[in-house]
Amino acid sequence: MIVITSPHVPEERIAEIVRYIEQRGVQAHVSRGTDRTVIGIIGKADPSLAEHLRSMKGVENVIKVSKSYKLASRDFHPDDTIIEIKGVKIGGDNLVVMGGPCAVETPEQIDEIARLVKAAGGQVLRGGAYKPRTGPYSFQGIGAEGLKWMKEAGDKHGLLTITEVMTPETVDICAEYADILQIGTRNMQNFDLLRKVGTVQTPVLLKRGMSATYDEWLNAAEYILAGGNPNVMLCERGIRTFETYTRNTFDLAAIPAVQSLSHLPVIADPSHATGRRELVETMTKASVAAGANGLIIEMHTDPDNSATGDGVQSLFPDQFAKLLKELEQLAPLCGKRFDTPKQPAEAFLTWKK
Ligand code: PEP
Ligand code: MN
Repeated sequence: MIVITSPHVPEERIAEIVRYIEQRGVQAHVSRGTDRTVIGIIGKADPSLAEHLRSMKGVENVIKVSKSYKLASRDFHPDDTIIEIKGVKIGGDNLVVMGGPCAVETPEQIDEIARLVKAAGGQVLRGGAYKPRTGPYSFQGIGAEGLKWMKEAGDKHGLLTITEVMTPETVDICAEYADILQIGTRNMQNFDLLRKVGTVQTPVLLKRGMSATYDEWLNAAEYILAGGNPNVMLCERGIRTFETYTRNTFDLAAIPAVQSLSHLPVIADPSHATGRRELVETMTKASVAAGANGLIIEMHTDPDNSATGDGVQSLFPDQFAKLLKELEQLAPLCGKRFDTPKQPAEAFLTWKK
């Protein structure tokens, strides 16, 4: 159930409504819009509660939300959520580009890639220090030291950082070093992990489980929101289907569909969605045309030789720069803002491997 107040209701009145709701043994989550405030009621409410709330001063409407997720739904929060991190806005009409290697490998590697991401116009440096690998003998990530290298590179080049967190025990250390916590596809329904990231305020990028429905994905987001962390963004990274040519099947329709169901920003990951470098550029543009609020793209300085994982889907730095220049042209046509530095994409013809 959600309560929608009349326009410009004073704070004291909202506090009284919240107090009344809590006295009835359920929780109230307040979301303030420009004119109206929406109060989400979580828990099993007595049917008479709606009747009583409707008659209260300052209440315009009480709506029953039949979806299993509430805080994640647009009914509860009609405006787009905009997450602001150190001046970078994610959501609404801003387009954010996150770029970087699958995994942090060496201090020099992450520093050079950070330089190239920044110069191309990206705002966030991606890189895994803890890697969820299908096989136990594959490279599992550098661990805590990698988080430090990535933070140093991000600070030096003026980029935010995003890294994957795999266990509740490592949430605090990841949140200490990174600006955004990534929950990978394999952990979308790791409920202990979701509960734990709900207890911090660090923004979370929640990837769609590889066989999750929109409903399951939004319920996973609900765990984080209900835990008290409102800074959640969703990430479409492809799903498992019978097709094997691509690594996953990119569900492009998920972008506008989930945006209609939820107010949370939706980021597209064309790298894991396709698993093929030659498809990343086209699917990046398709994502922007579909309304994505941002992209997370793998890029490496030596993807075919030294990359510890996902080299075949990682762009070369010059491809990444050219793509971002093209996004600068495309974004305004799709109602988004995105700028790159003046430097031409040809400036990326050399880099340190
Ligand atoms: C990644 O971002 O490197 C990753 C492992 O992604 P996913 O969880 O989507 O497979
Ligand atoms: Mn990867």
